[in-house]
Amino acid sequence: MIIVMSPNSTEADLEKVKIKIKSEGLEYHLSTGTSRTIVGVIGDKKAISELEMHCALPGVEKTVRITEKYKLVSREFKQENSVIDVGGVKIGGSQPVVMAGPCAVESMEQLMEAAKAVSEGGAQFLRGGAFKPRTSPYDFQGMAEEGLKMLRQAADKYNLKVVTEVLDQRTVEEVAEYADVLQIGARNMQNFQLLKEVGSCGRPVLLKRGLCATIKEWLNAAEYVMSSGCDDVIFCERGIRTYETYTRNTLDLSAVVAVKELSHLPIIVDPSHGTGRRSMVSPMAKAAIAAGADGLIIEVHPHPEVALCDGDQSLTPVEFNQVMDEIKRMSAILRGE
Ligand code: PEP
Ligand code: MN
Repeated sequence: MIIVMSPNSTEADLEKVKIKIKSEGLEYHLSTGTSRTIVGVIGDKKAISELEMHCALPGVEKTVRITEKYKLVSREFKQENSVIDVGGVKIGGSQPVVMAGPCAVESMEQLMEAAKAVSEGGAQFLRGGAFKPRTSPYDFQGMAEEGLKMLRQAADKYNLKVVTEVLDQRTVEEVAEYADVLQIGARNMQNFQLLKEVGSCGRPVLLKRGLCATIKEWLNAAEYVMSSGCDDVIFCERGIRTYETYTRNTLDLSAVVAVKELSHLPIIVDPSHGTGRRSMVSPMAKAAIAAGADGLIIEVHPHPEVALCDGDQSLTPVEFNQVMDEIKRMSAILRGE
């Protein structure tokens, strides 16, 4: 249930509402908008019904039952789009945000070259995995903390933010020390313990869609993160597994529209893992922006032919520059400029 406070309610009114919620053994989550405060109430159904009957407190405009299991994530909970501010970079605002870089951090030299290229192309974030979720245990697993340090150093040099994957509960704190945004990979979308841990680490979370996840399962995964205390969740559509084998995954761009209908949170698209093919990255990146995505995450490698991971889907710096140019022009047109 959500409790909508009237625009002229006072701090004291809100305090009384909070006390009432707590006295029923329920939890709350505040969303302070420009004109009003909304209190999301979470907990046992019976206790919520009880609270609903006794919620005619001063300053309360109305109470609304949210029918879906995901509540804090839902549009019903918050009508305006959420804009997530990562040290001045706004995700979900009027400009698409681009995160780019190699699949994996391989060396300082590789990362510096990549960071230079993506910053020159206009990306705001440097991506790169230090902990890699590989299908085979014999494949390169990532550089771990050494890789995290390199990411921070390269990003700082080129004035970029860092987004990187956290694979495991035990390394959440360590990754949060170096990264601006923590990525939950497709394989971990329903690792509920990890979702709770990452939700309470104090950093924004990029939540990739699971390999076979429905949109509602994905929204519920985000609810785990939000209900653990994190307001700043960004969805990332990265393709789902279908019977098609020509592409690595089937990029579901309709999910961009669906998530925008069902949630107030921003969504970006990963055309690299979504297709697995370099030739498809630029067309799908543009299609994603046309569909209303708030940004992109794109694999870029200074020398894709020698990449330790995902070279076939990585753009060269020149190709990245080209697609960024097109995206800038496209998004200006979409904004009516
Ligand atoms: C990645 O972005 O490096 C990655 C492993 O992606 P996904 O979890 O979508 O497969
Ligand atoms: Mn990859």
